[in-house]
Amino acid sequence: MMKKVLVLGAGQLARMMQLAGTPLNLDVKALDVSSNKVVHPITPEQIYGDLAAGIINADVITAEFEHVAHDILDECEQSGKLFPKSEAIKIGGDRRLEKALLESCNTANAKYYFVNSKEDFDKAINYLSLPIIFKTALEGYDGKGQWRLKVAADAEAIWQDMADFLNASTTVNQGIVAEQMVPFDREISLVGVRRINGDVAVYPLTENHHTNGILTVSVAAPINTKLQEQAGTVFKALSDKLNYVGVMAIEFFQVGDQLLVNEIAPRVHNSGHWTQQGADTCQFENHLRAICDLPLGSTALVRPTAMVNIIGEDTIPDEVLAIASVSVHWYNKGKRAGRKMGHINVSGEHELQLAQRLQNLADILCPKAFPDLNDFAKKYLDKQS
Ligand code: AMP
Repeated sequence: MMKKVLVLGAGQLARMMQLAGTPLNLDVKALDVSSNKVVHPITPEQIYGDLAAGIINADVITAEFEHVAHDILDECEQSGKLFPKSEAIKIGGDRRLEKALLESCNTANAKYYFVNSKEDFDKAINYLSLPIIFKTALEGYDGKGQWRLKVAADAEAIWQDMADFLNASTTVNQGIVAEQMVPFDREISLVGVRRINGDVAVYPLTENHHTNGILTVSVAAPINTKLQEQAGTVFKALSDKLNYVGVMAIEFFQVGDQLLVNEIAPRVHNSGHWTQQGADTCQFENHLRAICDLPLGSTALVRPTAMVNIIGEDTIPDEVLAIASVSVHWYNKGKRAGRKMGHINVSGEHELQLAQRLQNLADILCPKAFPDLNDFAKKYLDKQS
């Protein structure tokens, strides 16, 4: 029977849920939170004039981002249809709550200190030692709302900037989390899914590369089983603690053979887009299966796959599609610098083939639009050859 799903947020994640849900006879609609209208996630034609109508006409409600206004989350929660629960979504949107969750599960993470005043700022420097990264507790994403303090001489200027930011902020309960800079070897993430009955399935770990704080490339390939187990244990602990339902992503710093949690995302995640072509069941379908209480699909890697974000561009050369095992996913968004406009998935039967195809891709794409891709592809190819 057709189930009706309402997604809070009408961006690319709702769009890709719609695309993944249609074959399962799942009818996905999206709440555009800026207009409070329920729209079709693709067209985006208006379907209902307000959230209340969207809630009444949904069987299940979920969210595509963690910064949904709390009154909207609370209204959805009251209907009994919201998965994951609002607590998990709120935790994902507040770095202080996130830290408390990690502590309650004894999960390794970067040493931190909460800052609300100059006194706290000085204490944070004392407690953590430089270098320190300061992050806004609320509304941070893609490396926005961050200050890096590397040398003591910059402390005064950084505090001034942060204090100005806090004074000007209209966000209720805004604050700062100071974190020790982790000298990580690499950044990786785990996307996993949990069903209402507690069944859990996790995808292979993904290695992530950022440019100016924005994810640019993710690679999923067979990986060290010890790390995979470590990450899987963290996923199980956190998702059980939250009685979580749906897909959740955990971003880690790898330091030697240890994983430290950077942050969690209570939703489908950019570092899981590769699953559309590289996994048995993609993250969007598995999220829908979980929230609709359907059996989870296999999360097995079917072939090594990389995802390249298209940022701030609304066209790429057609020849990209001539490369074997390349899929292009556009989000139909207006062009804006720094905006995620789409992504490209590229797969290979083995890692060497993936690396060669990634290099082919880098050769075709404009280096100005994909500044680090060529460098990344070269290094990856060298490693495989
Ligand atoms: P976030 O918004 O917390 O994911 O931070 C954006 C990026 O900043 C991360 O992907 C890291 O590259 C970097 N970063 C964040 N926190 C730390 C940290 N404690 N130590 C080192 N780098 C960090």
